[in-house]
This record gives sequence, C-alpha cells and structure tokens, in this order.
Amino acid sequence: MSAQAVVKVTGNDFSRVPTDLFIGGKWVPGAEGKRIDVVDPSTEKRIASVANATVSDAIKAVDAAYQAGAAWAATAPRVRGEILRKAFELMVARADWYAELISLENGKALGDAKSEALYAAEFFRWYAEEAVRIFGEIGTAPGGANKMIVIQQPVGLAVLVTPWNFPAAMATRKIGPALAAGCTMILKPATETPLTAYAMAALLAEAGVPNGVVNVLTTSTAGKVVSAMLHDPRVRKLSFTGSTEVGRVLLKDAADHVVNCSMELGGNAPFVVFDDADLDAAVEAAMIAKMRNGGEACTAANRFYAQRGIADAFSKKLAERMAALQVGNGTDPATKLGPLVNASTLDKVAELVTDATGRGAKVLTGGKVLERAGYFYAPTVLTNIAPGSRVLTEEIFGPVAPIVVFDNEEDAVKCANDTEYGLVAYVFTKDLARGLRVSEKIDSGMIGLNRGLVSDPAAPFGGIKQSGIGREGSHHGLAEYLETKYISTSWGY
Ligand code: NAP
Repeated sequence: MSAQAVVKVTGNDFSRVPTDLFIGGKWVPGAEGKRIDVVDPSTEKRIASVANATVSDAIKAVDAAYQAGAAWAATAPRVRGEILRKAFELMVARADWYAELISLENGKALGDAKSEALYAAEFFRWYAEEAVRIFGEIGTAPGGANKMIVIQQPVGLAVLVTPWNFPAAMATRKIGPALAAGCTMILKPATETPLTAYAMAALLAEAGVPNGVVNVLTTSTAGKVVSAMLHDPRVRKLSFTGSTEVGRVLLKDAADHVVNCSMELGGNAPFVVFDDADLDAAVEAAMIAKMRNGGEACTAANRFYAQRGIADAFSKKLAERMAALQVGNGTDPATKLGPLVNASTLDKVAELVTDATGRGAKVLTGGKVLERAGYFYAPTVLTNIAPGSRVLTEEIFGPVAPIVVFDNEEDAVKCANDTEYGLVAYVFTKDLARGLRVSEKIDSGMIGLNRGLVSDPAAPFGGIKQSGIGREGSHHGLAEYLETKYISTSWGY
C-alpha cells in the first residue's frame, strides 16, 4: 500500500486506500512526484491527493502490462474465472465500504453509491462465468478441399479510460471482460474519482490477479498520456467511456496505429409517455431514469415528451416527486440527491436552465443553484420548452427534467430521433404493439419499454450514432476483447 494513503475517516476507515500509481504490482509515486487533489463535492474540501502520472510513467505501465501479457493469455480460463469470482465476492462483502468511498469522491447519494458498488461487482461475476465460454467454430469449406477453423484470442494490451460518474462500474465493465478474455491492461480513471479505482486495483491483487495484468494510473494530462500509450505499438485496444467530444479526439488518435476501439459515449435520452400509459408507473420510472445518480448518467432521461392528454398530470406528479427529494451531502444516509461532481458541471446545468427560461420555459419546481457549500442544484422540472432550447439538444447531466408536449406517434418518434446521440430511449404505453413499433423506429442502442432502468451486466449496453461503437456487458462485451483468427487447413485426404 502507498505510504501517502489519506482520505478523511467517516464511519468507515479509508486510511489504507492507495493513492499512488499501480504499475507492475507496485505502488509508485510517479516520475515527477506531483500530486492531484481529490475533492468531496458535498463540502468542496480536499479528501486526498493522488499521484500524477507522466508519459514516462504510462510507458512503464505499458512495459509492465506487455511483460505480463503472454502468461496471462496462457492462464487457464478456469483460473481467470476463479480470480474474477473471488473479486466479485470481495467486492460484495465490502459493498458498504465502497459505497461510502464512491459517495465521498463523486458526491452521489449513498443509496446510489451502494447500488453502483453491487452493480460493479456483478461484472466480475458475469465475466467469471463467461471466461470459460470462449469458443470457436469449425467447418468444411464449401468447395470441400479444406477445413475452416475459427479461434478466439485475446486482442492484447488494452488501455481503459473511464469517467467520474460511475467510478466503480465503468471500470469493472471493462476490467471484467478484459481479464476474462486474457488481456492485460492499464486503467486511467477520471481525475475527479481515482480513489475507487485504486481501491479496486488493491482488491484485484488480493483476488489473485498477477502483477502487471492490471495497472492503474491517474494524470492531470490525460490527452498527452493516453495519446502516448495509443502510439506505442504494443497497445492493441482502447476502451473508452466518456463524452462524445473526447471520444472523437481519441478515435482520431487511435487511427494512427489502427488501435481496436470500443466507445461508450454521451447520450440525450428521450422519455416518451403516451396518453394510455400507467401514469404512476411512468412517474416512478421517470424518477429512476432521470434521478439515478442525480441525473449524472449517460442513460439519464434528458428530454421528456408527454402526449397532450397526459402531459399536465404527468408534469404535476413529476414536479411533486422532484420537489420532495431530500437534498444533502452524499454520505448522509437520508440524502436522495447529492451535489454535482464539480463547479463546472454545476455552472453548465445552471446555464442550460437559464437558456430555457430565457426562451419562455416555465419552472414547476427548482430552477436554481442551492446556496450552501458544495455543488448543489435544486431538483427541477420545466415545461413550455421552446424548440432549440439547449436542454433539448445537449446532455444536461444534472437534476433537470424538461417536458415537451406531443400530439401523435409520428411526432413522438420524430422528436425522439432529433439528436446526434442514440444511446437509450424510454417509451411508456399500455399498447404493447405500439410500444414495440415505436421501439423499433427510435434510433438508439437500447430502449426501456415501460421501464426506467436498462443497465444489466447480462445485457449488451451501448449506443448508435454519436453515442458510441461496440457494446459492454453480456457476451457481446467479451467479444470486444477478442480477435477472431481463421485457420485454413486440411487433414489427410
Ligand atoms: P470526459 O470528460 O470525456 O472524460 C472521460 C475520461 O476521459 C476521463 O478519464 C478523462 O480524464 C479522460 N479524458 C479527457 N480528455 C481526454 C483526452 N484528450 N484524451 C484522453 N483522455 C481524456 O467525460 P466525463 O465528464 O468524465 O464523463 C461524462 C461523460 O461520459 C458524459 O458525456 C456521459 O454521457 C459519458 N458516459 C457514457 C457512458 C456510456 O456507457 N455510454 C457511461 C458513463 C458516462 P480527466 O478526468 O483527467 O479529464
């Protein structure tokens, strides 16, 4: 463990959370010895400082992952699976501890953080089970002259870049399949939330992951450090979760060495409520789709479209539920809505609401920054949204629900598809045929049909259009870390 481990002590003891770089199984302070502050968004107070990796540290991590690569790829799938299973068990046993750590550095309410810790652990369990199910194919060529054997091999050394909004789950959704496939890796978590990633690296070592297989580094110069790794020919895979803006930069960077890319990018989810929907169920699901993680989720319902006959009742009930949310510090067990992650995120949410109200939007509840320490925005519901308002076109990433009225199915689909994003959409109707018809017409990788939550380690998570390339979770997520090799041969005739 790092000698510099800090973190304030609350109910749990965080004094042994590592804060140095994890390279080749060792905790190291980094070439320059510089640190990055980690701040609790509920209080704006520093809770720790972590090592700040340079390009030379990143190349050392590539060296370590490369050296560990052949042995890990040759490790029996059952052994890889059992290590993942052990990681799952350790994480579940420590879920409350992880929940508080996540809440401390990210600000999310403890309940959301506990759900995340358990959801994150499930990726270890799922991929423990998938590790022993990597199969190929065999057949006779149509001409009959030879056999065609198809095998699956690990794609190789992977760079994993993750965002701050789900510090545990976005990491395990990549680490799980990468380990199962037999890849070694370097995880670069977001600067806002490095502590969960380091704690997880320690847990993986305890579960039996050999030195060098999982390396973790934080840096204040993500562009330079990640680019240097992508230009090292030993790196064969990039899996990125974050904004579409950064995703575009990384796709260009990865093009130089034609690095295999998986991209989980931004979203702008429409939430469509038809007149015949079960009103209470739709409001309940809206609270989950909008407010899980305080609105800071790529799957967050960004734009609500309610059919004219239900719009007033839906808006009123949603505003009542939003206004009743208990706002407070993330680590307070009574809190249902914590702060946003940092000042710039808070400013952006405030700007989007000001833009909407400036164009005539009506505030049913909220609509303001809360006057207290921390980055708090009031739970907000807006109606009367003018076309072109930024709340409809940009990712809000905060507790703001803009509601637009529509008249018919065709309008609903047109509104839902009016975005460059295509991650997830939510549709509420009691008419199943209509629900399926609309689900088919909406351009997105995932649909919640009469459900406000789609994420599941057993399901293929991912987007189309500018929301991403590839899928995470399920056997599709494992395929992102495998290469297909075809062997043409014949035997004995
Ligand atoms: P972000 O700004 O794109 O950052 C994501 C990660 O990329 C962080 O680790 C960041 O490091 C790093 N990064 C930033 N600039 C980089 C560069 N030039 N080169 C290499 N790496 C770079 O996103 P975020 O604000 O952390 O997260 C919110 C976004 O993630 C939202 O758009 C959300 O929709 C998306 N998201 C998508 C999914 C999905 O599955 N589709 C899931 C969760 C979140 P630093 O922290 O050092 O800047």
